[in-house]
Amino acid sequence: MRITPSTHYQYERIKPDDDCMHEECGVFGIYMEDDVYDPAEAAYLGLYALQHRGQESAGIASVVKDDIRLYKGMGLCAEVFKNDLDRLYGGRIAIGHVRYSTTGDSQVLNAQPLVMSYRGGKMAIAHNGNLVNTDVLRKKLEEDGAIFQTTLDTEVMAYLLAKNAKDGMVESIKKMMEVVKGSYALVITTNDTLIGVRDPQGIRPLALGRLDDNFVLASESCAFDTIDAEFIRDVRPGEIVVINKDGFHSYQTSLSLDTALCIFEYVYFARPDSDIDGISVYRARENMGRRLAQAYPVEADLVGGVPDSATPAAVGYAEESGIPFKKALAKNRYVGRTFIQPKQSLRDRAVKLKLNAMKRNVHGKKIILIDDSIVRGTTSRKIVEMLRLAGAREVHMQISSPPVTCPCYFGIDTPSHDQLMGAKNSVEEMRKIIGADTLNFLTKEDLLKTVEGAGCNFCTGCFDGHYPVDIKKACAQTQKLDLTQVFK
Ligand code: 5GP
Ligand code: MG
Repeated sequence: MRITPSTHYQYERIKPDDDCMHEECGVFGIYMEDDVYDPAEAAYLGLYALQHRGQESAGIASVVKDDIRLYKGMGLCAEVFKNDLDRLYGGRIAIGHVRYSTTGDSQVLNAQPLVMSYRGGKMAIAHNGNLVNTDVLRKKLEEDGAIFQTTLDTEVMAYLLAKNAKDGMVESIKKMMEVVKGSYALVITTNDTLIGVRDPQGIRPLALGRLDDNFVLASESCAFDTIDAEFIRDVRPGEIVVINKDGFHSYQTSLSLDTALCIFEYVYFARPDSDIDGISVYRARENMGRRLAQAYPVEADLVGGVPDSATPAAVGYAEESGIPFKKALAKNRYVGRTFIQPKQSLRDRAVKLKLNAMKRNVHGKKIILIDDSIVRGTTSRKIVEMLRLAGAREVHMQISSPPVTCPCYFGIDTPSHDQLMGAKNSVEEMRKIIGADTLNFLTKEDLLKTVEGAGCNFCTGCFDGHYPVDIKKACAQTQKLDLTQVFK
């Protein structure tokens, strides 16, 4: 039986295999009035720019005349659409999705976008995030006769949308938003309308852009640059944006006072050339490094970063401390997250394949090594060992975020509590396991200062266990809901 976060939360807050449903995703959508681009082509380019958000599957749905065509498959964008992009050409609207998940079963079936027929025609939906009350909802709907084809929370949302479609899509989305709890950045297309939705707390990002008179939606603004679109603004928490032949319309649903954008987007997940909710990801990372340098000064010959995600923080550290930035590790850029091998012997080699010490830079040197996060701790241990074998005299590890102590239920693939090094060990114990001379973490307070001035508050659940939705309560409330009343 598959266990989704909502059920196992009910029984036991933390379960060893609870990472089974967590997904990391990127979404994209475009409405083209002119012929600047074919929308499917723009979606392909946009997804390519969002590839870091998910490498397991990719898909595009395009609205051609009265039909919605779908193409999706396992693998990177370039692999999935190698020969088949042109069958999506010729439309006005396209939406796309890239996904990474650790789910084992029916992987292609669970790839997105999902396309379904409903009484208003056809609809396609792509989702980044994770609902926490899916199981309760799904069970209720199944008792009521619903049949689901996938194990995705996204399909539950699509079903709720279809169920209420008689009042129009916007009303239907509003009703759906009343019952689903958790994180969702959605891109939806019907036969004639592109829609973007962000959950009331804005847990996952969604940006709005424009290409001449055409509108674009994407998880991150870096996707706009790829197609020469211009960033307009972020979709607001709780906002529904609607784009069709009548232009652009926005509907603000009840906005949570306590918005909670995922801070891990800035720490690790997002691309450094993206701006999210008014903050440059690169600038935030650089400031994380600066704050580390202020908090934990160390005498050293060089500052290095674990490529690529920690490079901006290492640059910030170097600038603040006056210690030169130098490459301590080289990265094999052809190793992605796809190198997840079933055999332990191959897995053990993964870090070595991905990273190698720059012997001539580190030999005989005292090194400050910056990484963005310690999750399982396996990477750091191997890296320190690698640097020592290459002749480093001292290795001072500094992490540009606090220890990850709690799993994420909102769409970042953190492992279960058991596998989180920071959940079971003190910093000193972690230092010993990693084998570094010193180990220091940025405090949560300092981390929050690097994103000051953003148009929202932040979820820091992976660092402190304070989640934006009380999962237990949300499930209990959903259990009591009379869905026939909500969807009259
Ligand atoms: P660990 O401590 O689990 O061995 O690995 C920490 C490294 O994993 C850091 O360098 C960080 O950049 C990276 N990392 C952090 N979060 C994620 C994630 O969600 N997925 C992947 N693939 N790497 C991550
Ligand atoms: Mg890294």
